[in-house]
Formats: sequence, structure tokens, C-alpha cells
Amino acid sequence: MKIIVASFQCESNTRASLHPGKSDFEYFSGEDIYKKLVVKDIFARNGFEVIPSIYANALPSATVERDVYEFYKEQILDTVRAHRDAAGIYLYVHGSMEVDGIGSGELQLVKEIRQLVSRDCLIAFTMDLHANITDELGQYVDIICGYKTAPHIDQDESQRRAATALAYCLKNGIKPHTYVQKIPMLVKGDTMLTQLEPLRSLEAETAQLEQQEDIFGANLFFGHCWIDAPNTSASAVVSAADAQTAKQWAQTLANKLWATRKEYRFRIEAELPEECVRRALQGNEKRIFITDSGDNTTAGAEGNTQELLKLFLQAEPNKKTCVAGITDFDTVDSLWDQPDGAFVTVPGLGQKGIIKTHGEILGWAKEIIGRCLTITFGNVDAIFTEKRSGFIEKGNFDKANVDLLGYEIVVVKLGYLFEELKPYADRELFALTDGASCVELSRLNLKNIVRPMYPLEDFDWAAK
Ligand SMILES: [Zn+2]
Repeated sequence: MKIIVASFQCESNTRASLHPGKSDFEYFSGEDIYKKLVVKDIFARNGFEVIPSIYANALPSATVERDVYEFYKEQILDTVRAHRDAAGIYLYVHGSMEVDGIGSGELQLVKEIRQLVSRDCLIAFTMDLHANITDELGQYVDIICGYKTAPHIDQDESQRRAATALAYCLKNGIKPHTYVQKIPMLVKGDTMLTQLEPLRSLEAETAQLEQQEDIFGANLFFGHCWIDAPNTSASAVVSAADAQTAKQWAQTLANKLWATRKEYRFRIEAELPEECVRRALQGNEKRIFITDSGDNTTAGAEGNTQELLKLFLQAEPNKKTCVAGITDFDTVDSLWDQPDGAFVTVPGLGQKGIIKTHGEILGWAKEIIGRCLTITFGNVDAIFTEKRSGFIEKGNFDKANVDLLGYEIVVVKLGYLFEELKPYADRELFALTDGASCVELSRLNLKNIVRPMYPLEDFDWAAK
């Protein structure tokens, strides 16, 4: 018996303007996909012939344009067309891919796969905890296993859970049922952390449910507020041997998550940008990080806003300050030929500064993706990058030829600080800035989501 393996992932942000191009996807085909997917041995060990398709994964970006979507989707469909007798299909997707003119990219993909294979073919998904699950998905997918951690640390484990369940159901002739229970809540992603209560207990409960012989996936999905679409919300999804069990547990989990909705809040200093700047300037800590959460490049934003840079320039700080990773192609390109030490006017800012260093920027896989220029304005250094990038670890500063340890205040375009930066941060301020990844739901102007939706409205609700 054959099992097809594929992955197609991109978390969309309908507030962002940078659409992912074909080359923005990290791409592998054939046996190379197992550099990223860890399920082959599970299927092989169980006696299946494993058919690799493609792996295509892009950083969070604006919606996926139709031609880019079709380009990758068709490659997966081609594999399915060549192996229509497959007993199973394993797909690793995000769950919040929004495609222009289509809507949910994952739903469309699985609908088209279903037209090619028989209803006996079992389809299993691994999905991100921030997936906006569509109501219909359960009609097409037999097993869904989502991450159980935020920040995510169980991606591999989640692949293996789904693969193990798929192999088990195929070998035992089980045709599972998946029930999707939407939950009308859309709490700030950054406040829902699974290592803390109440989510630690709730996720432990989902893991325990999956120990039952007749339950193959028990999941809470938190949803993702930067897509303005009808399927944007939290959900509970259970895949079980019979439809009644799946529905009952999905509703139970949904009601439990709903009951906790008022418990999510920031556990760190989250303040408006002016207040973050004030606190950073007055703080006694050796090094203070500020995250520009509204322009978070790891959440689909472009990283091009200058709000915090301008606030620091106005403040003329007496502390050494670095604003890292402002996307500004024109500044880098037009000033690149100037030597270090040159007095220049920064085009997008209209301010004079001195070129401090020329450097390089890194992509998600730590490959070099472009150039950056660091320009000094008094005590403030700003790193301008020709492309969107994420300053997520010290290595990004090293590549830019900037000494991270020489600063007392560091601004990065992230939500929470990545673990790799935490050793350098004696204090962390979360700036509630505007931008494509703004975390204030009331400021997002969402028009297409289902209403009422907590926290925009508070109301009584129960899954039934
Ligand atoms: Zn996620």
C-alpha cells in the first residue's frame, strides 16, 4: 500500500502587502523532502511504500497569489494523479494560508485531492496551532493533529503523531471521523502560551485524549487574527473512530477553551511605543530590548515602519541604542557605494547620519539574502536592510557587522523575543505599535469575521 507525503505551508497576513513569490518558498522535491519531514520511517516501518511529493514553505507573508498557489498545488496534485491508488496521503500544512480569490488554501487543496482519490483513501494533516480551521475541513480530512505548544516546539512530534495515527488506521481498517467545532473567540496570539495555565492543563488533556484507542487527534486551535476571513477564529477539532465521539469531545474541548477566554493577558511589560521608549531610557538594566510587535517580520509584516526609530531620534538618548532591521531597499541601494564613515542623508528618513558598517542579512534558513547598512545618528544606530529580515539571534547582528553587546537599548521587529536573544536581554518591553501584525483586535478593523466574536463582544456561548 502506498502513502503520499507532501507539505505546503505559508501563514498569511491579509494586512501585509508583501506577497510571497515562488522563490520565497523553501523548496524540496522527491527524497529531499525528508530533510524537513520526519514521517518516512513511520510509514516504512509499517510496510507502506512511501511516495514523496514536494515540501514548500514560506515565511509569514501577505496572501498567496493565485499563480504561486497553483504552481505548488499542481505539483502535489501531479503526485496524486500518478498514484491514484494510494491508500493514504500525509500533508503537513499551516492551516492559515489565504489565497487570493480562493480563501483557505488548505481546504481547496484537499478538495481537489479528494476529486482524484477514492473516499477510502485516508488523508491526515499536521497543522499549526494558529490555524484558522474552516468548518468544512472535517468533510475532507480524516485525521488532524495540530501542534500543542506555543511558542512552537513540537513540530516534529506533531508530524509523527499524525503519521502514526494514519498508519494505524490504515492497517486496522479504521475510517476516522473528524469534527470541527468553531469557537467564537480570537484572543491575541501572543497571550496564549501553553507552558502557562490554563493552557498547560488543557493541552495535557488533549494529549491524554489521544492516548485513547479510538481517538487519533484531539486539538485546540487558537486561530490567527491577521486574516480577515469568515473562518478566522479558534476551534476544537477531534478525529475519532466514530462520529459521535469526535463531536462530543470537540464540543467539550471547545467549551473548556471558551471558559478560559478572559484569562489571557500579557505576562510581560506590554505598553504603547512612547511609554516603552520612556521606560527604556529610564531603566537601570544593562541591556533592554524593545519588540516592535505591530511590525513583526516573523508574523508577516514588512518591517518597514520607523515609528520607534523616530521616537528614539527625537529623544536623543544618552544610552547606546540600536534599531535593528528596518526594511528600506532605497536607503541601502542608494547609499551602498558610500564608504564607512561617510556623511549621508537617509532618503526615507530625511535625516543626516554617518555610515557605520556595511553588512549582510540572513534568511530563515540562515542563508545570506541581501545587504544591510548601519547608519549612526548620535547615540542611535539604525540597521537598514534591503529586504525584509528577522533579527532573531546574535548571529544576525554579527552578519550586519554590528556589536550587539555594545548597546544598552535594542529594538527588534518581533513579538516576543526569540529564545536565542533572551540571554542578552536584561529586560524586555513589548511595544504595542501599529502595523500589519498589530495585536490589538479592536484596531484591526476586521470586516469579514463572524460576529459576535470575543473579545470584540462579550456574550454567552456554548458548543451544541
Ligand atoms: Zn503558529
